Amino acid sequence: MQQATPGPIPDRAACARLDAEHPLGRLRERFRMPKDTIYLCGNSMGPVGVDVPDGMRRAVEVEWTESVVRAWSSAGWHVAPSRVGALLSRLIGAEENEVIVVDSTSVNLFKLLVGAMRLNPGRRVIVAERGDFPTDPYIAASVAEMMGGEVRLVDPQDLAAAIDSTVAVVAVSEVNYRTCHRHDMAAMTRRAHDAGALMLWDLSHSAGTMQIALNAANADLAVGCGYKYLNGGPGAPAYAFVARRHQHRRRQPPPGWHGHAAPFAFAETYEPGEGILRLRCGTSPQLSLIALEAALAAFEGVDLKVLRNRSEQLSATFVALYDAHLASRGFSLLTPRDPARRGAHISLVHPQGYAIMQALLARRVVGDLRAPDVLRFGLAPLYVRCVDVHDTVQALMEIVDQRIHEHAEFRQPGRVL
Ligand SMILES: *Cc1c(COP(=O)(O)O)cnc(C)c1O
Repeated sequence: MQQATPGPIPDRAACARLDAEHPLGRLRERFRMPKDTIYLCGNSMGPVGVDVPDGMRRAVEVEWTESVVRAWSSAGWHVAPSRVGALLSRLIGAEENEVIVVDSTSVNLFKLLVGAMRLNPGRRVIVAERGDFPTDPYIAASVAEMMGGEVRLVDPQDLAAAIDSTVAVVAVSEVNYRTCHRHDMAAMTRRAHDAGALMLWDLSHSAGTMQIALNAANADLAVGCGYKYLNGGPGAPAYAFVARRHQHRRRQPPPGWHGHAAPFAFAETYEPGEGILRLRCGTSPQLSLIALEAALAAFEGVDLKVLRNRSEQLSATFVALYDAHLASRGFSLLTPRDPARRGAHISLVHPQGYAIMQALLARRVVGDLRAPDVLRFGLAPLYVRCVDVHDTVQALMEIVDQRIHEHAEFRQPGRVL
């Protein structure tokens, strides 16, 4: 694997300069950040965008209050899943009518995987990745059981070799939630197609931090999460992508009324809607959709290549400071060193990871812990600054050097983070 050449170790003033000079350094103003807090958990849940409160107030006080049921048409509620999907399509390299915002990532995975098995009849295997976000292999196992197939669960480095002529679909995350390892989307998709398999990408940990080119990679299907780097808020609906070439053939369970060709005709029998619309099932969570739509305004005018450049600057700063100050203090780096092979968070391992994260939280530095010992720091490029990275590393050094994490209050188990 290619090694990134270590640059000079930026001190705080140098970090502040990087922030001031980067063309996207001011995008943080598009968010309401929590006070006196270094927030490095946007990979779990993004902060509130400045346009979100007004969007929600309007939805409640005008659309819901004044129009009530008529808002489904007068305020465009009914078409919101495709409207927000179209808005999101630019972030993942898809066409506007290939993306829809509905349900949760887990539910969309289920719908797309069943659809994929039906699109590739005669093949029974779903390839999934060991160590992927757990819902993905759970859903794959359930679909396999239901469809009389099986899941082939393999380590990331064995993925390509595991794809053979028995495989119906390969379903993996582009960026791993724990290690932050990033697959080569184009190469893996080609590998799947060479074996006659379909390729489904979970973009939950990549969309909103980098340019993604689903269509350029010829991907078949994709899902992703609305509440992480897209900042859609708690319980934001997820999105699903189906390449246009598959849309007319794909059939899904469950065939809910909103996916019907004419939902308000209340016909006796189900007839699938046009293209991506048939991915809908029941009524959408309208207020959450409006929050996500308003949150996506933070990406307006943002060149995704420049966004990725900012993301690389943040993670390179973290890695440089890790090499200088944390490697010698009992931490190890779980995230790949090659910038091309990693996403936007940095994961460190430390045997006392849990207590160290509790001590960090007490200092209002918010990262999270993936048990038993992985400390994750989400470096969301829209609002995290290089000085935040600097101050976090500084706090880690102080906690370990002064053995603050050994205090009893930080060693009690049972918190969520
Ligand atoms: C966060 C995440 C999900 C979330 O699934 P929901 O059903 O929307 O809660 C799924 N897959 C991956 C890879 C994730 O990171």
